Amino acid sequence: MLPASESAADWRQSLSDLITDPRELADFLQLDQRQNPAGELALRQFPLKVPRGFAARMEKGNWRDPLLRQVWPAAAEERAAPGFVADPLRERHYNPRPGLLHKYRGRALLIAAPHCAIHCRYCFRREFDYQGNTPGRRDWLAALGYIRDDASIVEVILSGGDPLALADRQLGWLIEAIADISHVSTLRIHTRLPVVIPERVTAELLAMLAQSRPRVVVVIHCNHGREIDSRVAAALGALHGNGSTLLNQTVLLRGVNDEASTLFSLSMRLFSENVLPYYLHLPDRVAGTSHFQVDLDSALAIMGELQASLPGYLVPRLVREEPGQPAKTRMS
Ligand code: SF4
Repeated sequence: MLPASESAADWRQSLSDLITDPRELADFLQLDQRQNPAGELALRQFPLKVPRGFAARMEKGNWRDPLLRQVWPAAAEERAAPGFVADPLRERHYNPRPGLLHKYRGRALLIAAPHCAIHCRYCFRREFDYQGNTPGRRDWLAALGYIRDDASIVEVILSGGDPLALADRQLGWLIEAIADISHVSTLRIHTRLPVVIPERVTAELLAMLAQSRPRVVVVIHCNHGREIDSRVAAALGALHGNGSTLLNQTVLLRGVNDEASTLFSLSMRLFSENVLPYYLHLPDRVAGTSHFQVDLDSALAIMGELQASLPGYLVPRLVREEPGQPAKTRMS
């Protein structure tokens, strides 16, 4: 791991120097954009964002690369599909304070950062009202007051956007404020940053997490074993060595990871880096993402193969999120 100050500068630089132009990404990957033009409307609705280190893990000359498919603004996004809507989970109904979602009993979710280091084209929050959920200090205090007033909330989830996109000073303030609420026993952090910009796992971040009174659970988001290179492995090792519980969630995506062999390899790779597979999500029916859908029968067939070939603790739970349900719905 890099010395503290050097690594901190490194991740901020990576976060501010993303690839945002499809031409640049295509050129870097030695691809001819005329074969697969980026959708202009798709780009306007959800701009391209790819960390350079993540792009470096893509295979050159291959439009079918599973990492590239997750970020390329395909023209297919512009096809309207029945049943695919802006807010399929109806999150705005569970948004009692700016920056706070309270969907499930015992858990509350804070939209800690209104932006991500990468734009995953299948994202269920690609049309989320981040502008209305970018809390200032006063909004944070109101959201934290809501949690303090409800003793049934024992777990606070930092989500986003990506909570680790916050500067350490803000993140530290938030973690301390949550720790001050005595009935909160678990702090869960949902983040893709250790995978897409692993240099985010700095000595400062590790110290902050190690000092947290609530137990820390880090849920990373990794869809394919090729996302994990030696730097990602080092970041995960550091988080694990720091005492955090590490889980992974994956979205089942057509053309990316919809084969049992791919998910088998992902589970094995995650486990070798001390991460347990947690959820395998059926993709939410978000407008612009119908080309990623995997039908339920195919998903169940994949799960059958995984159950037959992996130990139970490495088989992720196939789930779908349905608005109004008290928890995610298990599909197998
Ligand atoms: S990192 Fe998560 S929240 Fe951000 S675009 Fe990707 S899936 Fe969406």
